[in-house]
Amino acid sequence: MGCQKIFQRGIASLSSLPESHQMLQKTCRDFADNELRPNAAKFDREHLFPKDQIRQMGDLGLMCIAVPEKYNGTDLDYLAYAIALEEISRGCASTGVIMSVHNTLYLGPLLGNATEEQKEQYVRPYANAEKIGCFALSEPGNGSDAGAASTMAVAKGDQWVLNGTKAWITNAFEADAAVLFATTDKNLKHKGISAFIVPKDSPGFSLGKKEDKLGIRGSSTCSIILEDCLIPKENLLGKLGDGFKIAMKTLDAGRIGIASQALGIAQASLELAVDYANKRTAFGKSISKLQTIQHKIADMALRVESARLLTWRAAWLKDNGKPYTKEAAMAKLAASEAATFVSHQCIQILGGMGYVADMPAERHYRDARITEIYEGTSEIQRLVIAGSVFKEMA
Ligand SMILES: Cc1cc2nc3c(=O)[nH]c(=O)nc-3n(C[C@H](O)[C@H](O)[C@H](O)COP(=O)(O)OP(=O)(O)OC[C@H]3O[C@@H](n4cnc5c(N)ncnc54)[C@H](O)[C@@H]3O)c2cc1C
Repeated sequence: MGCQKIFQRGIASLSSLPESHQMLQKTCRDFADNELRPNAAKFDREHLFPKDQIRQMGDLGLMCIAVPEKYNGTDLDYLAYAIALEEISRGCASTGVIMSVHNTLYLGPLLGNATEEQKEQYVRPYANAEKIGCFALSEPGNGSDAGAASTMAVAKGDQWVLNGTKAWITNAFEADAAVLFATTDKNLKHKGISAFIVPKDSPGFSLGKKEDKLGIRGSSTCSIILEDCLIPKENLLGKLGDGFKIAMKTLDAGRIGIASQALGIAQASLELAVDYANKRTAFGKSISKLQTIQHKIADMALRVESARLLTWRAAWLKDNGKPYTKEAAMAKLAASEAATFVSHQCIQILGGMGYVADMPAERHYRDARITEIYEGTSEIQRLVIAGSVFKEMA
């Protein structure tokens, strides 16, 4: 059955997905249960990048889901990507963000804007995760206000000279190349920004310290420092001055990814809470029989399922070439707030056991929090949604 039919019938049940998507979901769920869930606490505790698991995901085709076969990609759609990313994040949210950044924020803008030569060099070897990519937009002085980029790119002979610092870059520690944004003319504000492909071994490229984070501690986050960093002239990605447009388009798709990551965290928290409620007794009966607990479970399930519908809808719109900026913002907002709410309630249902690292509830709670911050804070998603609504109703 085509994706369109699923949405026409308004069915969100997993069994109504096309067979290809159901198979992908099962593959990802099995992988998450066998390879990620048993290791997620260790990745978190020891700040370990899940190197072996990412390579296995490369072999499974999960690190190039929307990449055409021509470049060794899996050639599936964004609905498939959303489903896969939720399952992976249900097993380990750190692995989820590594997958999300590599697929959407790195490979995404390359697929949309790179020349054939650039794709051969910066897409093909990244498709099976032999090499990892990152996306460098934020700076120490500007995150939400990405148009205020102060990293400079100056043309010199047959090279670009880059100077500045990009902050908070996921995967930067392991990445072999970055899609990086810099301005060639600050007076032009966001119209002066261009996108560049910056290999890690470029002269003048270095990394700052690894950030010590509240959650998603298995993924690395650090600054990229550019000091007279030299890259070839042909590493401009897309047209000069198109960088801000490329970044915003990339983040629209990225938000479907972060919504899916948040869904995975929320789903894991819901499953944990239900399992614990079924096993725990208080005052001589299972706490699952207490109406207070039942109401919590109902609210948790409601938030997860409604956020999932929004996420799949945004993916479906993207897959069908329709505008989806508002819908992706709605999906990210709903799913990230669902993840925070559901992981919070999960701790409450587990009582003391929710508060200690023996159980994953406290990790889910810590992991959930970032989904309301990166790729646009919840405040920014509300601005995007309100802007679209006012435009639609003008
Ligand atoms: C773990 C982690 C990983 C990250 N990974 C990446 C990455 O891979 N690549 C990358 O480029 N960036 C990355 N980021 C950066 C992230 O996208 C930014 O932190 C985020 O966009 C917010 O920017 P900021 O931190 O500068 O906050 P600010 O923009 O300074 O915002 C501070 C507060 O003000 C609010 N605010 C700002 N402007 C408005 C407004 N107009 N209206 C209402 N409220 C507003 C914000 O919502 C927030 O509450 C990452 C960040 C973290 C923490």
